[in-house]
Amino acid sequence: MTQPTQHRDRGDRCPGVRRVHQAADGGIGRIRLPGGRAHARVLGDLADLAERFGDGDVHLTSRGNLQIRGIADPGGFAGAVAAAGLLPHPAHDRMRNILSSPLTGRLGGAADVGPLVGEVDAALCADPALADLPGRTLIAIDDGRGDVLAEAPDLGLLALGGDEFELILAGTPTGHRAGRDAAAALLHDAARAWAALRGDAWRIAESGRAGQVAAAVTAHRERRAPTPAPAPPAAPVGWLTQDDGRVALAAGLRFGVLPGRIARALAHLDCPVRVTAGYSLVLLDLDEDIAEAAVRALAPAGLIFDAASDWLRVTACTGAPACAKALADTRGDAAAGIAGDLLPAGRVHFSGCERRCGAPKTGFVDYLAVAEGEYEVTDRAGRRPPPVDSRA
Ligand code: SF4
Repeated sequence: MTQPTQHRDRGDRCPGVRRVHQAADGGIGRIRLPGGRAHARVLGDLADLAERFGDGDVHLTSRGNLQIRGIADPGGFAGAVAAAGLLPHPAHDRMRNILSSPLTGRLGGAADVGPLVGEVDAALCADPALADLPGRTLIAIDDGRGDVLAEAPDLGLLALGGDEFELILAGTPTGHRAGRDAAAALLHDAARAWAALRGDAWRIAESGRAGQVAAAVTAHRERRAPTPAPAPPAAPVGWLTQDDGRVALAAGLRFGVLPGRIARALAHLDCPVRVTAGYSLVLLDLDEDIAEAAVRALAPAGLIFDAASDWLRVTACTGAPACAKALADTRGDAAAGIAGDLLPAGRVHFSGCERRCGAPKTGFVDYLAVAEGEYEVTDRAGRRPPPVDSRA
């Protein structure tokens, strides 16, 4: 099946560390942590950056990246990010959009894909031909549970178990398989094919070239029937017992905003942390007594550990006044809707304009601003990407 072709008449404007995007509230700088993987001490560095150069908060994006908003000194910001070790590949900074399953190696999944994230990042960043991949191209390494595959990545790998991995293109498994030792090379080949074929397109599914990318990889490898995409699990929330008996704490953030003072407090936990595409953080490898103390201290401060919280199902773009395109204060209106119990059941997303930044991939109730405080409300059906046909 061929797909509609869309081309862009301008370069993508995704911000990076050295390319700050200007918004109504100042510059936006974006920091990428491949796989969302870091140590909690990095949250302290981010708090420093937010307080020194931005509005004091760290803002999570729907792709698990981190933003500092309100930057008035872009050069100083870039230098400080580099000094903190958060700009290891300046030429490839904006293309390192790599998601991975946040609980991989700790709980569930068909394989621990953590080490593979590092291998893929290193392979892509060592290739000059990939430095200009658009900031919009999304890569995901899914450990078999289907959580980051559900984000419809352009390129990725799905763990099948038994040290086998399958290539993902345009949000679907393709049947192209590789063993653990060749998995990073398989993804690298697909990324090179996309870089050569994309023209001025940003996303594979939009480009109409998914089949050509698949065919370029097929030329060198055996292909089997594509694996059905696993049904994505519910996002992890709250207290989770790891396979080794230690505790993982998954904490939701209201509208993805991590206040600097909370980031600083989390840094003291001295543990691995994962940033998710669901506006949450997962703190790993905690002893029970530390986890209990963390929940007691951080829940009153605003971190969400309750899976039933409305704050986990209601999202909103930045909105007014920070975004000049916004017709309404989306976050203020969404918060008022939660406080007044005025919103419908299920996922709800507020957008200040038709770009719908950060809207969920699957079905949700769409609140689209048409004027200050006024919204057009539509129940939007979930969209599943079509299969990739390498004959296209
Ligand atoms: S959806 Fe529109 S108003 Fe909201 S942040 Fe994006 S561009 Fe701004």
